Amino acid sequence: MATLRHNALMMVQSRERIRVESPSLRISDYFESNVFGSKEMKASLSPAVYKKVSSAIQKGEKIDSTTADEVASAVKSWALGKGVTHYTHWFQPLTGATAEKHDTFFDAQSGIEKFKGTALVQQEPDASSFPSGGIRTTFEARGYTAWDPSSPIFIFDKTLCIPTIFVSYTGEALDYKAPLMKSVEAVNNAAVAVCQLFDRNVKKVTPSLGVEQEYFVIDRALYATRPDLVMAGRSVYGHNPARGQQLDDHYFGSIPTRVRDFMKDFEIEALKLGIPVSTRHNEVAPGQFEVAPLFEEINKATDHNQLLMDLMDKIGEKHNLKVLFHEKPFAGLNGSGKHNNWSLITDTGVNLFQPSNSARENLQFLCFLVATIKAVYDHADLLRASIASAGNDFRLGANEAPPAIISVFLGSTLTSVLDELEKNGNLKIEKGDNMYMKLGISKIPEIILDNTDRNRTSPFAFTGNKFEFRAVGSSANVAGPMTVLNVIVAEVLKDLLKEVEKEMTAGKEKKIAIVNVLRKYIKDSKKVRFEGDGYSEAWEKEAEKRGLANLKRTPFALDILRDKKVAELFQKHKVLTDVELHARHEILLENYIMKVQIESRVMGDLALNHIIPTAITYQNKLIDNANGLKGLGLDNSAAITTIKEISTHIESLKTNIGKMIDARRSLNKVEDITKRAKGYSSDVKEAYFDQIRYAVDKLELLVDDEYWPLVKYREMLFLK
Ligand code: ADP
Ligand code: MG
Repeated sequence: MATLRHNALMMVQSRERIRVESPSLRISDYFESNVFGSKEMKASLSPAVYKKVSSAIQKGEKIDSTTADEVASAVKSWALGKGVTHYTHWFQPLTGATAEKHDTFFDAQSGIEKFKGTALVQQEPDASSFPSGGIRTTFEARGYTAWDPSSPIFIFDKTLCIPTIFVSYTGEALDYKAPLMKSVEAVNNAAVAVCQLFDRNVKKVTPSLGVEQEYFVIDRALYATRPDLVMAGRSVYGHNPARGQQLDDHYFGSIPTRVRDFMKDFEIEALKLGIPVSTRHNEVAPGQFEVAPLFEEINKATDHNQLLMDLMDKIGEKHNLKVLFHEKPFAGLNGSGKHNNWSLITDTGVNLFQPSNSARENLQFLCFLVATIKAVYDHADLLRASIASAGNDFRLGANEAPPAIISVFLGSTLTSVLDELEKNGNLKIEKGDNMYMKLGISKIPEIILDNTDRNRTSPFAFTGNKFEFRAVGSSANVAGPMTVLNVIVAEVLKDLLKEVEKEMTAGKEKKIAIVNVLRKYIKDSKKVRFEGDGYSEAWEKEAEKRGLANLKRTPFALDILRDKKVAELFQKHKVLTDVELHARHEILLENYIMKVQIESRVMGDLALNHIIPTAITYQNKLIDNANGLKGLGLDNSAAITTIKEISTHIESLKTNIGKMIDARRSLNKVEDITKRAKGYSSDVKEAYFDQIRYAVDKLELLVDDEYWPLVKYREMLFLK
């Protein structure tokens, strides 16, 4: 057998279990033990400084230098006590990964460990290697990272990590986190103003987020033999295994022992980092799993999701496993996503998406529900763009959930509530009427409680007390889509309030004014609501009739970012300037081109250097065989047929790869980055990927298994 593949498979056979012991039976004994949280702060800071830091965290205020010095010194002692030697500013550049630059606490000059407030508050990473979409070249050569005290400092891999935002010297955001934090402020402002219609005590509204993370796991030795997985994160070749996901026997089935050990291990480490992981299970495809933490405040949840991915990667190494976060590592099997469970919660403890027993509160619930639906309808294109990536293109609109068409699922109960409200549009409600009764709003809670409606094909579903945005890619930084969601909901809430106030000025009673605006919004946004099968062909047709966009390819979906209205929206809510938005568009296009380019190269190289030579070797064997048979006067037609088939596939590979390389070459000369990206999508990916793959996968079936150089799907996917 091809030696590399053979050796890797042997190695997998001889794997020993790596057992994991919990540090303690009770999670509370080690939860957050690697986090410099409020408990540590309270213990190590003077009361005055602790108060300052807490209030800075709560109100997003700046921290003065004396305070910073005291925090730095306390953090240093805490970290040194835990055997930490280095510190780093931890940030989320637009590459999608997290970044860090480690510095030691040790100061050789004085011979002791030092950590000043200034080093805590600000740092200058060598920013030149991070994407900036032209911002830095135009404005300023360097950027800096600035401490975000609202996300706790933690220890990862014996390094003290300080969560930071990353900005250019001219103040432009170069990361995901800064705009997310601004969008949290935007939705807070708009939501508080609407809440004030119902409850004067509400002073703050915070988005919450719980991220269900899907991923694949394969043995590390097998991973190492597949250049496509290593370079592109997905297998560009590989015939479907006989036993795929047809039987769905994997779903919620038992988790393989090695994977369970790995899960247990990373969960312990996650809990130490304060990541409240709570559920684990198998997913639909073999080799696919999911982890979900309890929801948290959105900024923290975003940091925690990024951190969790880093952690899983690292712990996976220890277990000789490779975690694949790509949206579609294996053709023919379900892809991976991140379900973003999002809601808005007030400082009085009310989840604004939770139907309640009080009719008054239900009207508030309906305001937020309807505003969110309208936001998704008004800005479906922007929401679609927020999840666009080369990897996610393999999922969205590729006959698996969710589709590229953005729609909202509500379940039958809420649908009928909204339909009723809309239908009663002409219902006269007079002062003194029991409006809630008349409109059927008072009954929502009971009906909702036993609402077990589930629709797994919807990209944006209401799930009882939160919305679940399911179209986010498994490798994405959730800050991108969550920033957009916060902003568009803020925008609609602002309008809603304005219209309600207008009606009130015209003499309408408050609750009647609210209902009137809601009715209008329900009608306006009705087209975006869909309760059926989201990946049926019928829905594609129906959506087209409704005028809903169905943009399946990233560079086309991203066009909306150059829309003037989008620029105005982000500016109005002080989330992104025009320059920042433009830069982001370019970075996303650059990322897309890079990804397709790498995949295309890997496809070419693998076919030319591995597949074709192997096919020829085997073909030569067949030729010997055919000649031998002929010499004996026997029928050699079967051998000749296979020889011909192999030739056809080799020919097709050579021709298509040649043409694909030519297409790349001419596209690389295209100056306009949007045109280049669209060209990569149409003239490289669409034009050749499937054809090339088809030939290779056919050869896999023809060529003697002994010779085949690439580890096969069935060997990668069914871990013991
Ligand atoms: P599912 O049935 O979709 O698996 P779960 O109840 O298990 O739903 O929740 C999935 C995720 O949603 C978890 O991360 C959970 O913490 C989160 N979640 C639950 N309630 C909320 C909420 N109000 N806001 C945001 N996320 C939430
Ligand atoms: Mg879910």
